[in-house]
Amino acid sequence: MRGRTSELEQAANEGGTSPTMPILGLGLADITQAREQIQGSVTRTPLVYSPSLSAMAGASVHLKLECQQTTGSFKLRGVTNALAHLDSAALQRGVVTASTGNHGRALAYASRARGVRAVVCMSHLVPLNKVEAIRALGAQVHIAGHSQDDAQTEAVRLSRDQGLVVVPPFDDPHVIAGQGTIGLEILEQLPDVRSVLVPLSGGGLFSGIALALKSVNPLIRTMGITMEAGCAMHTSLRAGRPVQVEESQTLADSLGGGIGLDNRYTFALVNALADDTVLVDEASIAQAVRHAYREEREVVEGAAAVGIAALMNGRIDVSRWPGPIVVVLSGRNIDMTLHRQLVVAT
Ligand SMILES: *Cc1c(COP(=O)(O)O)cnc(C)c1O
Repeated sequence: MRGRTSELEQAANEGGTSPTMPILGLGLADITQAREQIQGSVTRTPLVYSPSLSAMAGASVHLKLECQQTTGSFKLRGVTNALAHLDSAALQRGVVTASTGNHGRALAYASRARGVRAVVCMSHLVPLNKVEAIRALGAQVHIAGHSQDDAQTEAVRLSRDQGLVVVPPFDDPHVIAGQGTIGLEILEQLPDVRSVLVPLSGGGLFSGIALALKSVNPLIRTMGITMEAGCAMHTSLRAGRPVQVEESQTLADSLGGGIGLDNRYTFALVNALADDTVLVDEASIAQAVRHAYREEREVVEGAAAVGIAALMNGRIDVSRWPGPIVVVLSGRNIDMTLHRQLVVAT
């Protein structure tokens, strides 16, 4: 793992911004194949020009509206591609995950669409509204233990005992390739795109998009953006290996969680493909959610607003990040009471 990573770093340095691809066996072909697999099951989301952000940035800025994706986030792309690659015996047994957020929601939805049994493991601490939302999508809920780790252990147990297939939220080639289909759409919708800002947590979204973009045009620059509070990938990249960070309360709750100390794909991919990673604070995330609503007329969750936050805070220097710039808005599953508080505050 370590040797492999430094090899990738070296390749990235030698090739400037253009590392050798495919990386870890993953390349453009996997993403174009994913697109065929998921066509008809996911929405091709709009790319829209933002006059106000363009004026702020001094370059043309466009928003990729994955907040309008079915289930309210891009996660449906990766999950749908992962299910498409399971054999019929596995599909008959079913799938399992421990995510209570956008990944669990997408897995529940995609499984029901294919008539596949889905089990979502949760701890006793998960609020009832989340439990109900996942149940409403037809998934079975297993309540176990008092932490996300306990829920994860239960998922692994169910996988072992009942033969359910674990569908990981980010560290999986089919999941990464599915998220990469966003990159293909961006290239079609804005062929002269130069800079792309992507929310970053486990790195499945970033890896897929950056792999698609840079395979087609190595000059496109990609930035991963995350919150200051508990940024596992950013800290791991600085450390040169996957490290654990303390989880904190954040408006960008979908960016929380670790990258896995046994990370197999996304750490190396983000390491090789990110031109930079940038952190934004809670106040600027709130400001960005408000901007998205008032100026762009979009409801977005905190995780989805980090690109706008970076732009609004002058973190994007257009001499290094030339336009046209695309900002990926990754989801809209925010508690609406919280959203109302954020958009009325001044
Ligand atoms: C999962 C998620 C992310 C982060 O995706 P990773 O692949 O884990 O980096 C960003 N935004 C939203 C809305 C998400 O649900």
